[in-house]
Amino acid sequence: MTELARSTGAVNLGQGVPELGSPRALLEDVAAAVLAGANQYPPAHGTPALREAVAAHQRRRYGLEYDPLGEVLVTTGATEALAGALLGLCDPGDEVLAFDPCYDAYAAVARFAGAKLVPVSLVTEGDAFVLDVDALRAAVTPRTRVLVLNTPHNPTGKVFTPAELAAVAEVCREHGLTVVTDEVYEHLVFGEGGGEGDGPVHRTIATLPGMRERTLTVSSAGKTFGVTGWKVGWVCGPAPLVAAVAGVKQFLTYTSGAPFQDALARALGGVEEWAAELRRTLGRNRDLLSDGLTRAGLRPYRADAGYFVQVDIRAWGHEDGVRFCRELPLRAGVVAIPTSAFFVRPGAPSHLVRFSFCKREEAVLDAVERLERAASAGPR
Ligand SMILES: *Cc1c(COP(=O)(O)O)cnc(C)c1O
Repeated sequence: MTELARSTGAVNLGQGVPELGSPRALLEDVAAAVLAGANQYPPAHGTPALREAVAAHQRRRYGLEYDPLGEVLVTTGATEALAGALLGLCDPGDEVLAFDPCYDAYAAVARFAGAKLVPVSLVTEGDAFVLDVDALRAAVTPRTRVLVLNTPHNPTGKVFTPAELAAVAEVCREHGLTVVTDEVYEHLVFGEGGGEGDGPVHRTIATLPGMRERTLTVSSAGKTFGVTGWKVGWVCGPAPLVAAVAGVKQFLTYTSGAPFQDALARALGGVEEWAAELRRTLGRNRDLLSDGLTRAGLRPYRADAGYFVQVDIRAWGHEDGVRFCRELPLRAGVVAIPTSAFFVRPGAPSHLVRFSFCKREEAVLDAVERLERAASAGPR
């Protein structure tokens, strides 16, 4: 789709590469660290400064205590933390639960471990995606080892509600499951901290009763600071679970990101201020895109967080998202991605496509204008 955007000159709202900038001080700190010689293997678990900053962040934001020595591990992006967790915790034949649609790495890394990803459908209700607790319960078997949670969620922009998290936690406690929670969008819930008070808020499942001891919490600098190319992530959890990830990381990458780590430690210390501005920008883009899609006669779902909005294309007479996304650059000059790329289960809906809005406002406005023009130009 990115190649199609290039060859047709379409506005690319496909891939989720952020174009909203990064904190200037963070970029300067990294440049200075490179020149100062921070270019060799850092400690295998991450630099002390970054491990301490991650622990301080979890305490400040969620009231969770983690020992920077043994309960925090710096990884090569959230991706390595997720891969390390599934490789470290699953045996061949084990089953891993994930809510479908889901980030495409989960099924792949489960396969690396010889495990099987079992999708639990998120169902649509009005303009929202919601948890089906009965489907979750029905998906648990004696081979279920891990549940992968992702909130805020990619590709839907869903934020799991307190009631949904409580239901997930109950199932995990009942069946002795380990939770791997992917929270790379933890700072990107729109309206949060904006004084509105009644919007969705990001909560982390490790704060629920009996959950800290069975939860690995994964996050990353990429989405929060607009530095997806750096691939610096981290995972927090009880020492035995973190040790399982560290044992895999030792021979996957050993270590990574030397010049980034202490600079990110400093940025993480002041993340609230940066994130508040980023949320406002993204929230505005979400509104512009969702309203524009609606005016163009398409049906966007509600996105409360992150980079993406899901769109039902049936109002344009389309059933097949893959075909729709192939034709859209030619018909409207806009690129989107079929959500079928994120579904694991067979027979999943094909009428959903994903648009990203982590772009400059002009690009979003340009895309909206093109979609409206295509809508009024007739046969869809
Ligand atoms: C982008 C993304 C990741 C990958 O994070 P990295 O730090 O780049 O490895 C993981 N999970 C979700 C849900 C994402 O959207």
